[in-house]
Amino acid sequence: MRYAIAGFLHESNTFNPLITDRAAFAAQYWKTGPQILSDWRGGNHELSGFIDACETDGIEMLPILMATATPSGPVEDAVLDEAADIVCSELKRHPSDGLLLALHGAMVAVSYPDADGELLRRIRQTMGPDYPVVVTFDLHGNISEQMIENCDAAVTYRTNPHMDQHETGERAAALLDQIVIEKRQVYQALAKPPLIISLAVQDTSQEPLRGLMAGFPHWDQDPAILDSSFALGFPYADVPQMGPAVIVVADEDEEKARLEAAAFAEHVWQMRHRMTARLVEAPEAVALAMTAKETPVVLVDFGDNVGGGSAGDGTVLLAELLRQGATRFVVCLADQAAVQACALAGINGQVRLQVGGKVDRLHGDPVEVSGRVRVLHDGTYEEPEVRHGGRRVNHMGLTAVLELPGESLLVLNSYRHPPFSLGQLTCLGINPSRMRIIVVKAAIAYKAAYRGVARTIIEVDTPGLTAVNPARFEYRNIRRPIFPLDPI
Ligand SMILES: [Zn+2]
Repeated sequence: MRYAIAGFLHESNTFNPLITDRAAFAAQYWKTGPQILSDWRGGNHELSGFIDACETDGIEMLPILMATATPSGPVEDAVLDEAADIVCSELKRHPSDGLLLALHGAMVAVSYPDADGELLRRIRQTMGPDYPVVVTFDLHGNISEQMIENCDAAVTYRTNPHMDQHETGERAAALLDQIVIEKRQVYQALAKPPLIISLAVQDTSQEPLRGLMAGFPHWDQDPAILDSSFALGFPYADVPQMGPAVIVVADEDEEKARLEAAAFAEHVWQMRHRMTARLVEAPEAVALAMTAKETPVVLVDFGDNVGGGSAGDGTVLLAELLRQGATRFVVCLADQAAVQACALAGINGQVRLQVGGKVDRLHGDPVEVSGRVRVLHDGTYEEPEVRHGGRRVNHMGLTAVLELPGESLLVLNSYRHPPFSLGQLTCLGINPSRMRIIVVKAAIAYKAAYRGVARTIIEVDTPGLTAVNPARFEYRNIRRPIFPLDPI
């Protein structure tokens, strides 16, 4: 028995004009062949779940491709073509009994609004309808009919922050076993309630989602249902499939899969008024942070959520912290030019720089800062714990820490880097517990890392490519009507 294994993951923010090219994947991860197994074995990613499940069950593996890039604008067509060619040609060249494929579910390519679906369509076209394909998706996938039609079974994570990625990989491997080894006839149904779930309520450990997610154990005990998923969707993609999705995989009973999926979607729809959020704006948030009794205070920069594909150099909160005279804060910005200037000045060098606000006009203007270069670091660090994203080795690119007046720190990264790990700060010698205010460019995902550190959390309605209010975006291609943008 031999399973092919592959991963090709990207979350594409279609409002971001920066195209994600091959170099963006190379900077994070793009490898083929057996090296994938040694790099991902024992990790927390779904790919690690595939590998560990196969090794436990004594199933041989055909490792084909693993590729991932930091969320940003749509992926270049040539990158999708290259990934699809590698997967399809390797599947044709070497015999295998089925494919375990890790996708995000919110990948958009320049010419393909549904890039995940297009990849699956090409695989099915190459291998035919009888070759089993089981797919994992991120909880933020915008799952389409095309994706579901072109695979045998699909599963998504069930937690946000994503703490169950390894388990999701194992769920997929179990489904492939049921199809290949037990020869079960599997049906899957997709239901898409017409709403947008605000990123601000997408914490699955809190209501309203905690209660909704608690519905799955009921299905898990039903022998007729092999697996079930509720993808929350990724609102920053102007594509027809944008929005949440319920997937039910049933054993033999197609009608049951359809009815269960529809019933759950209706339940979600009934709860729609609890799926929106209103947050405070930057001036009020900073004032609250400066007077908070319980510190550190984490200020959540929603509009510049790096994990949601924004610029990562947004200055709205930095400017407000400086304007109000805050002290002992730490802010991370992606700004390669500023890093180079710090490298040139060297450790202990004094610099005066214009930082951030360079990628677009949506995340604030460049801010002038002066300070002393405290640290220069290659930006690579390891995260041993289970964290959102499931990555062990992380790359921020050459990184500088600038000491500002008032014992505040500015971390300047060469690459855009999401705050999924405290390693982002600790590898630079920064103890987050000693800071008064920590700005995270995120929505929910940072919580897995910061839960033990944050004493006060203030979520901020900052402007940008991942602003919390969907009415700030001009959608042209999504399904209409959709709640809460339209009256339904
Ligand atoms: Zn996600």
